[in-house]
Amino acid sequence: MVRLLHAAALAVGLLLATTSTNGQQPTSVCGDCAEWNARQEPFRIVGNTYYVGPRGLSAILITSDAGHVLLDGALPESAAGIASSVRALGFTVGDIRLIVNSHVHFDHAGAIAELQRVSGASVAATSWSAGVLRTGAVPRSDPQFGVISPIAAIPNVRTIGDRETLRIGSIAITAHETPGHTPGGTSWTWQSCEDSRCVDFVYADSLTPVSADEFQFTRSREYPNALSDFERSFARLSSLQCDILLTPHPSASRFWQRVDKRQVTGSVDDIIDTGGCARYVDNARERLLQRVKLEEAGRASK
Ligand SMILES: [Zn+2]
Repeated sequence: MVRLLHAAALAVGLLLATTSTNGQQPTSVCGDCAEWNARQEPFRIVGNTYYVGPRGLSAILITSDAGHVLLDGALPESAAGIASSVRALGFTVGDIRLIVNSHVHFDHAGAIAELQRVSGASVAATSWSAGVLRTGAVPRSDPQFGVISPIAAIPNVRTIGDRETLRIGSIAITAHETPGHTPGGTSWTWQSCEDSRCVDFVYADSLTPVSADEFQFTRSREYPNALSDFERSFARLSSLQCDILLTPHPSASRFWQRVDKRQVTGSVDDIIDTGGCARYVDNARERLLQRVKLEEAGRASK
């Protein structure tokens, strides 16, 4: 049973997490945090899109001559590594002008406050998430309320709308509300070109129905639209042009397998997977279905 629970926790990424401050360096205490935060050499994915996160948590840098965009900030303790990855690629942290986020949990937004401080970037988020980022507190409408740690509050967060496109220099990145994992989940799309070829990136937010024990996606007073939100997100992600799927946890989109293959062949074709978004949605739909069945069976047995 313990093993089963552990396997389940690993599968869903559910964490009992706290953050302690050990001198300057915050340290998250969670089952997978150390492994997630393992050092990863930064590299170009395609064109002006680079991977700058640790091995287990994505952080994506999109560059332009007029400044850069950073997508996601991993764990609180990931800030220094992300900044050094940006520098290792030859870019300047102070040239990051915009930071955006998939969802507000500590493992994807934990370093944003610090990265904003060192870069001077603005932070933009869709409405629900912007409210959370400003306080750092986990709200009751978050399915993981009570089991995950808060994040450092981010002083200035601009609220943006669904489908709004943000521009920095030649970069145009569009927000897509894809709620469910949190009520404010946001996916992002942009194009990057290499040689004469342009590819459509989709950074799809987590779509796993992970929660605190007492939370039910089928009937939550705090998050009554959870199921219809998931459906809305599935429809939206299915509608996007998707050459390269990226996800907050790289493993969720088989990213490293694609990167490794490209490493061998040198061909961009090996990192492209036009069916990636459809498979991601199919998996998420199946996981949600299983979760709904479990909740219904749990109620029936009471
Ligand atoms: Zn999460």
